[in-house]
Amino acid sequence: MKRTHHCNELRPEHLGQTVSLTGWVHSRRDLGGVIFIDIRDREGRTQTVYDPSDLPRETFDQAAALRSECVVRVTGKVRVRPAGTINPKIPTGEIEVAVSGLEVLNQAEVLPFPVDDPEVAGKVNEELRLKYRYLDLRRPEMGRNLRVRSKVATATRMYMDEQGFLEVETPTLFKSTPEGAREFLVPSRINPGQFYALPQSPQQFKQILMVAGVERYFQIARCYRDEDLRADRQPEFTQVDIEMSFIDREDIYQLIEGLLKRVWKTALDQDVPTPFRRISFQEALNRYGIDKPDTRFGLELADFTEEFRESAFRVFNSTVANGGVVKAINAKGLACATQGQMDTMTETAKNFGAKGLAFIKVEGGEWKSPIVKFFSAAEKAALTSKLGIEEGDLVLFAADQWLNACEILGKIRLYCAEILKAQGKLNIPANRFDFLWVVDFPLLSFDKEQNRWYSSHHPFTAPVADDIGFLKTDPKHVRGQHYDIVVNGVELGGGSIRIHQPELQKTVFEEVLQIPPEETQLRFGYMLEAFKYGAPPHGGIALGFDRMIAILCGTPSIRDVIAFPKTAKGTCLMTDSPSAVSPRQLRDLHIDLKVPKKETPPAN
Ligand code: ASP
Repeated sequence: MKRTHHCNELRPEHLGQTVSLTGWVHSRRDLGGVIFIDIRDREGRTQTVYDPSDLPRETFDQAAALRSECVVRVTGKVRVRPAGTINPKIPTGEIEVAVSGLEVLNQAEVLPFPVDDPEVAGKVNEELRLKYRYLDLRRPEMGRNLRVRSKVATATRMYMDEQGFLEVETPTLFKSTPEGAREFLVPSRINPGQFYALPQSPQQFKQILMVAGVERYFQIARCYRDEDLRADRQPEFTQVDIEMSFIDREDIYQLIEGLLKRVWKTALDQDVPTPFRRISFQEALNRYGIDKPDTRFGLELADFTEEFRESAFRVFNSTVANGGVVKAINAKGLACATQGQMDTMTETAKNFGAKGLAFIKVEGGEWKSPIVKFFSAAEKAALTSKLGIEEGDLVLFAADQWLNACEILGKIRLYCAEILKAQGKLNIPANRFDFLWVVDFPLLSFDKEQNRWYSSHHPFTAPVADDIGFLKTDPKHVRGQHYDIVVNGVELGGGSIRIHQPELQKTVFEEVLQIPPEETQLRFGYMLEAFKYGAPPHGGIALGFDRMIAILCGTPSIRDVIAFPKTAKGTCLMTDSPSAVSPRQLRDLHIDLKVPKKETPPAN
């Protein structure tokens, strides 16, 4: 008998029906001679019962011998579970199937880790899970993640289609344009000595598609960056990549707000209020010390530069005299921070080049701090009123150049929030999502070591029209038409209105970024040429698809929402890649390895 229902389908209304289920042996219990086996398929699980008095001996013995994760087909009658044995935790918990026929479709050896334990992720080391990824993906928690991913991809495609977008695939064998992240190179066999590069994003192709008159493009695109992997990065990842012609920033905000509304409704059945708040880069730094602020809690930075300009405390007054700022946060109720926690915060400040971390602990009605003796009554009054200082508080200071001072306290703010959360003093509901747009980024940032300007976003981002005149005279103050979408302190994506005038683009490359003209020609010549033939004004954005799914699934790691992710060393433990190749393959590709044999990547 073919499968009649999936394992999440049967309810009391199916009472008495003869059904057939297929799936894996999820868990079993032997109770007083009767065997209970939960059969699991993609959709859920159902309890099946093997009673020796109703079954041929042979079938019962077969059931008794079933190991976890064997593949079976069972036939039997649906019945309602006796009172007291109902399992309210699963949708099929009111019924069971009294088995009359059992077919073993395949055996399973003893597994390297159990699939039926929801806590596996916490107990089994991740390398083992990655090596046996097909077993890890059988776990219902991981299956759910894949499903959310698929549903969100479909919702995205439908929404973008409704909005008039064309899905266009762009090449993954691209040209090397060394800039920003390191690229993966692919040797060309038929063009000896030449290489393709895997794209870091479809940026240039999508802009070319605008020149091609596509007007509205999107792609759920695979991108590649050969970076040293940080905790939550992958060498290949997925973006929802978008580009539009004849639009301004407001059009992008509206489009993305609509998309995220749709996605959150689809995945979580949540109504996301729109429009999203907007905050300038400057304000984000001033208030939260970071350009992707988590606004679900306060703990905001306050500025005391003016108050301490004439202070008797030399560290503060000299910083201000040197053009720096004095900022502070009040970690409410954290005077109880341990020495270890204080050391961690001090270390954070030192990592930014600060000499130490000034603080005040308010305990026993007293301000305990090595520095308060330098503070005047007026300075203390200013601190109390701006920070609302009370018994039990911990005040932390940063005195430095503006960006550094903000970033130090931004990091410390997040760290304090973690401690307060652990202590139960800060409660953030799991289903709260604070979306916001961060806007008005500086177009350029200065690289002290190389003594030159580089693009804060990428070199195709248009300056704010009013600021174009300052590109050569005052680059620091030129704002870019760049925007980031942030949720709960995570950068979900970013994009910009682009430069579409070839002369302005050439000026940015050559005069602002100081890329030599020959190099500009080599790397971007085709783009500059394309722009000469009627490039429409355009702009776009890319959303980190993996990160978005991780947020929707409530998991901290994007590896949990990618079917086959790489390790932090960029390896795939299941297939053992990367791996050495044969001398013949190397010869075909005109490659002569300089790596001594034993140092070629081990086959693991
Ligand atoms: N290509 C950019 C990125 O990958 C996004 C964009 O500007 O559309 O970050």
